[in-house]
Amino acid sequence: MVKTITILGATGSIGTSTLDLIEREPDRFAVVALTANCDVARLAAAALRTNAKFAVVADESCLPELRAALAGTNIGCGGGRAAVLEAASMGADITMGAIVGCTGLEPVMAAIAGGKTVILANKEPLVSAGEVVLAAAAKSGATLLPADSEHNAIFQCFDAARPERVRRIILTCSGGPFREWSTEQMRSVTPEQAVAHPNWSMGAKISVDSATLFNKGLELIEAARLFPVPNDAIEIVIHPQSVIHSLVDYVDGSVLAQMGPPDMRVPIASCLAWPDRMATPMAPLDLVAIGRLDFTAPDPVRFPALKLTRDALNAGGARPAILNAANEIAVAAFLAREIGFLEIAAIVADTLEGYDPAAPATLEDVLVVDAEARRMARRYVGSRGGAARG
Ligand code: NAD
Ligand code: MG
Repeated sequence: MVKTITILGATGSIGTSTLDLIEREPDRFAVVALTANCDVARLAAAALRTNAKFAVVADESCLPELRAALAGTNIGCGGGRAAVLEAASMGADITMGAIVGCTGLEPVMAAIAGGKTVILANKEPLVSAGEVVLAAAAKSGATLLPADSEHNAIFQCFDAARPERVRRIILTCSGGPFREWSTEQMRSVTPEQAVAHPNWSMGAKISVDSATLFNKGLELIEAARLFPVPNDAIEIVIHPQSVIHSLVDYVDGSVLAQMGPPDMRVPIASCLAWPDRMATPMAPLDLVAIGRLDFTAPDPVRFPALKLTRDALNAGGARPAILNAANEIAVAAFLAREIGFLEIAAIVADTLEGYDPAAPATLEDVLVVDAEARRMARRYVGSRGGAARG
């Protein structure tokens, strides 16, 4: 049975890994639509290789270039937000949500409305609009599958029929490139240092999040959305080897873990084939070569993101959306060298302190909170960045 698939964010790290897997099994997957922001060369090449029906650039100014690249083919071209939403609404059996940031929220919602399978790599929509996303999936009957490696690990270990028998969820965290750095050392971290992750190769935004540990904080909120356990039953442990991707602890003392090489193609393949399995090109895990697995407690003093995210989760309402929006702005400012590495968490804290709207109830409410939090975070970037330069 051929499954049709649309990839939102097809040119990024997750999108490329997804294409790699489905192109190995052309009898199993047929591409409907591929979207990108503006990477026309990569998008057009992927559309041609997979014989996609529709290729979309979110940045409309890139549409003429896309049209030129696909001239003389049967592949339709689109540009702008409406075209991304159209791609997400084409009824593919599987939609991979691999756009980065909360800008992926509306496309993911459009895919969910179709009532088919939606794979969520794009974690920010779940953080900002968890209730809204889950309610939409319950309404349409869409199946949500988590591709984030930790959540995919939990999904594979979690006995969904007996959630009350789960005692704890343990999220593993590599610790990022600055796991052993002092706060003073982190003060002068450059974007180049922050995006060089020791274990994983990823897009720039999530790489910075992995260095501040905001990624683990976002994942804490993501886990709370996806799995029916109390917030305080979700723990984080530092595990530098990134071999155990997360664990589920049951009341009888059994702890189930999912292990695998640190390559996103493993959790993505698990989603693409679910509930079946499919082969990936990864070599079997060599435990003897790995030799040892280490675990330590995270340090909330050097990594304030952990407390900020835990507090936002516990407070609920608009807090996770504000936190996420401020972090997106702060990370972009750090990558643009407008602020220092430590200012990322400071700007998130400033924004959470300065803005306390009512809990958003609808998608539109979330988008309003997201936009206002971004506006405020930009202002704090201006004052903190200015102070840092002065
Ligand atoms: P990336 O930056 O490599 O790719 C992002 C994709 O989104 C690209 O195709 C880009 O063209 C597209 N895009 C960017 N801005 C857009 C916009 N405004 N409108 C429409 N499309 C836009 O990012 P990534 O590392 O592949 O991460 C994608 C998502 O998956 C993120 O939410 C990330 O947190 C999550 N994730 C990534 C990894 C990983 O290993 N890379 C692991 C777990 C979760
Ligand atoms: Mg992860």
